[in-house]
Amino acid sequence: MDLNELKDKKPKRPLIFYYLIVLGVLLLLNFFVVPTMTQRSIRETTYDQFLDAVNEGIVDEVQLDSDVIYYTVESDGHQQICKTGRIYDMQEVNRLYGKVHFGQVIPTRQSPILSFLISWILPIVLIIVIGQFISRKMAKSMGGGPGAMMFGKSNAKIYVKSSTGIKFSDVAGEDEAKELLTEIVDYLHNPQKYQEIGAKMPKGALLVGPPGTGKTLLAKAVAGEAEVPFFSISGSEFVEMFVGMGAAKVRDLFKQANEKAPCIVFIDEIDTIGKKRDGQITGNDEREQTLNQLLTEMDGFDSSKGVVILGATNRPDSLDPALLRPGRFDRRIPVELPDLQGREDILKVHAKNIKIADNVNFREIAKAASGASGAELANIVNEAALRAVRDGRRFATQADMEESIEVVIAGYQKKNRVLSEKEKLIVSYHEIGHALVAAKQTESAPVHKITIIPRTSGALGYTMQVDEDEHYLMSKEELENKIATLTGGRAAEELIFHSITTGASNDIEQATKLARGMITRFGMSDEFDMVAMETVSNQYLGGDSSLACSFETQTEIDRKVVELVKRQHEKAAQILQENIMKLHELAKFLYENETITGEQFMDILNR
Ligand code: ADP
Ligand code: MG
Ligand code: ZN
Repeated sequence: MDLNELKDKKPKRPLIFYYLIVLGVLLLLNFFVVPTMTQRSIRETTYDQFLDAVNEGIVDEVQLDSDVIYYTVESDGHQQICKTGRIYDMQEVNRLYGKVHFGQVIPTRQSPILSFLISWILPIVLIIVIGQFISRKMAKSMGGGPGAMMFGKSNAKIYVKSSTGIKFSDVAGEDEAKELLTEIVDYLHNPQKYQEIGAKMPKGALLVGPPGTGKTLLAKAVAGEAEVPFFSISGSEFVEMFVGMGAAKVRDLFKQANEKAPCIVFIDEIDTIGKKRDGQITGNDEREQTLNQLLTEMDGFDSSKGVVILGATNRPDSLDPALLRPGRFDRRIPVELPDLQGREDILKVHAKNIKIADNVNFREIAKAASGASGAELANIVNEAALRAVRDGRRFATQADMEESIEVVIAGYQKKNRVLSEKEKLIVSYHEIGHALVAAKQTESAPVHKITIIPRTSGALGYTMQVDEDEHYLMSKEELENKIATLTGGRAAEELIFHSITTGASNDIEQATKLARGMITRFGMSDEFDMVAMETVSNQYLGGDSSLACSFETQTEIDRKVVELVKRQHEKAAQILQENIMKLHELAKFLYENETITGEQFMDILNR
C-alpha cells in the first residue's frame, strides 16, 4: 500500500463562509457602488446660488421635492445637476414660473423591475452558483461521493510511519508500557501468529499517568514503529456546541478507521469525552451522546480486523466505568513518574540533542531531580543548553545542569531582588534548621545543595533534597521525621531570633498535609485504627481529598493533627538546641557563601 497517499488533507472551510462572502459583496454594492453611480454628478449649492442661477436664466429644469430642490444648469455646453435645500418661500413658484421648466431632474425611484432583480434574483443566482461550485469540489475531494455538508467531519490527523519519526528508543524508561505496546504493534504486523493460538487482540489500551510522563510520546512512538495508519485526535476536538455533532465526528472517525484497517486510533485526553455520566439534570447532553457513540463504535468493532484504540488520560478515576470494561479498553497501561534509573535515561536521551561536556554525571543530576517528570527533565536539559549559550560557552556543563534543575523546579534567580542582611541571616538559619534536623535524624547527608538566592517562584532559599534509594513504602517513623524536618526551619528561627516570620508557610502546608494523611488515610493513629476518614480523588493531578466521617470525628482529627505536628515541632526544637553550635557554624557558612553542598554540610557537621 502506498502510505504517502494518507497524508491528511487541509481542513476545508465550511459552507457558511462562502455565504458570508456573498452577503458582504451585496452590502458593499448597495452601500457604496450603487449610490455613487446614481449621485455621481450632483453638485451641492446654496439657496442664493440657486436664485442667482434662476435670475441669470441658465436654469433649465427644476424638481421641487419636499425639502430639496434639484435643478439643472447649462454650463460650458453640458448639463450639470445641482441640489439645494428648500426654504419656506411663498413666492417661490411665482418667481420660478416662466423662467424654468418644472420636471423630473433625477429619478426618485429605481425602476421596480431593476430593484427586484438586484435585491432578489441576483443573490439567489450567486448563491446557487457558488453552492454548485463548492459541492462539485467537495465531491471530487471525497472520491465522488455526494456533496455532503462539512459538519460532523472528524479532523483526525493521520500519521504514517515516516511522518512522526519517533521510535520506542526515544522514550526512555517506562519499560512496562513499552512492552505492552510493542505487543500491540507486533500483532498488527503478524496477526496470524496470534490467531493460530486463538489469541484475540485487545481492542483498546488506556495510558494513564500524571502529566508530562510521556503518554502522548509513547503513542507517537507506536505510530512510528507500526507500519500502519495512525489516527490521532484529541478528546477536546469532539466537544461541540450542538447536540449530535460530537457523535457524528466519532462516527466519521471510526468509519475512516474501518476503511484503513489495520490501523491505530489514538484519542488523547480522553477524559474530556469519557467523563462519568452522572444522570443529573445539569448533565451535558452533547457530551453524553458523544460518549454513547464512542461506546457503541468500540463495541461494533471486529478486533480481528485490526483496529486498535489507544487512549491517554491523567484522570482515570473520572472516566465512565462503561468505557473501562473489557471489550473496550481491555488494557490499562500505567505510565508513572520515572524512577532514578528512568530519570537518568531520560536525561541521556534528551542530552543527545544538545552539546554537552563529556564528564557530566547524569546519575548525580537524576538524583537531585527526584520527583521530576519526563517533561520536566526534558526542560532541564534545554535550560542547561540555554544557560550555556547565555554564558557564551560552546557546550553545557554539569553546573549548567544543576542550576537548571533549580530553574525548572524553583524558577529563575531574581536578579533585582536583594535580601536585606537581616533577612539573609534569617533565611540561612531557617534552611540550615531544616537540614540539621534531617541530618541528625538519619545520620546522613540530607541535602544535595542549599542556596539562598531568591527565586521567581517566591522562595527565598532553596533546598535540593537527595533521596538516595527509591522506596515506595514509608514507615510511620520516617513520616514523623519528615514532619520534624519540615518544622525545623521555623524551630531555628524561634531558637535564634525569638521571633517568627512568614517564611515557613510552605513548610506548614506540607507538614499539615502529611500529618493529616497519616491520621486519615494511612491508619497511623492509635485511635482510629484502620478506618479511612478521607478519600482521595484525582490522584495524578495533585490528589484532592474529601473527608468522609462525622462532624465529631472531624473535630477529633483536627485535634490529632495539631498534636502530631506539635510533637514533631518540639522534637525539632530539641535537636537544634542540642546542636546549637553546629547550627551557628553552618548558618554562618551559608550566609557568607550563599550556597552549601551536601558534602560541605557533612564536613562541618562531623568536624
Ligand atoms: P503526557 O504524558 O502529559 O502526554 P508528553 O508525552 O506530552 O506527556 O511528554 C512531554 C514531553 O516530555 C515529551 O515531548 C518528551 O520530550 C518528554 N518526555 C516525557 N517522558 C519521556 C520519556 N519517558 N522519555 C523521553 N522523553 C520524555
Ligand atoms: Mg499528553
Ligand atoms: Zn522552610
